[in-house]
Amino acid sequence: TGDFQHPVAAALEIAGKGRTMPVVPGLDDALFDHDGQITKRPVRALTLAALAPRAGETLWDIGGGSGSVAIEWLLAHPLTEAISIEADPARARRIRANAAQLGVDRIEVVEGWAPEALGGLPDPDAVFVGGGLCAALLEHLTARLETGTRLVINAVTLESEAVLADWHARRGGDLMRIEVSEAQPLGTRRGWQAAYPVVQWRGQL
Ligand code: SAH
Repeated sequence: TGDFQHPVAAALEIAGKGRTMPVVPGLDDALFDHDGQITKRPVRALTLAALAPRAGETLWDIGGGSGSVAIEWLLAHPLTEAISIEADPARARRIRANAAQLGVDRIEVVEGWAPEALGGLPDPDAVFVGGGLCAALLEHLTARLETGTRLVINAVTLESEAVLADWHARRGGDLMRIEVSEAQPLGTRRGWQAAYPVVQWRGQL
């Protein structure tokens, strides 16, 4: 009996050495290889909370970028799956590499343009739109997916924000503007460096 160690005690011992992954979304951006196109940590944490992953669920991550949102969805629970749709071939490769690096293999990366590339995919429980937002994409999702499918959309440009303002007027849901500033050197002192505001819509189809 002396050799037995409860798994939780073993995990805590590993944690004591500082080498385990955090279990809550909002991982450091540096854990993902990226080219600048990545949903930054504070916005990603809010995005995952809005997506609300549950056991057994599949995510569509449209405009996958670095894959950070899909990967955090997968890390949230071992019984989840994700499909990342990314138009740029180098980024599609990066999503696969980031997923492998962080130990999740339940991801399918579809290299192509939404909405055309969504054609043969199995239906999701939740959809995140992080790129490629336009009215035609929202019409496609509405026609194609089951009523009640959860949808979270992040917009950074004025053009995509206008699409969301119109969508919110017609469909309701929650519209939120996320403005984050971080302290940075300013001359010999420090100042608040503002990130581009992100407008986030959350609701159901
Ligand atoms: N959420 C991502 C960042 C998304 S950046 C992350 O955390 O890493 C937006 C991405 O959408 C870019 O990589 C761009 O290539 C992709 N994209 C834009 N329009 C698209 C479309 N119609 N179909 C698929 N991908 C698209």
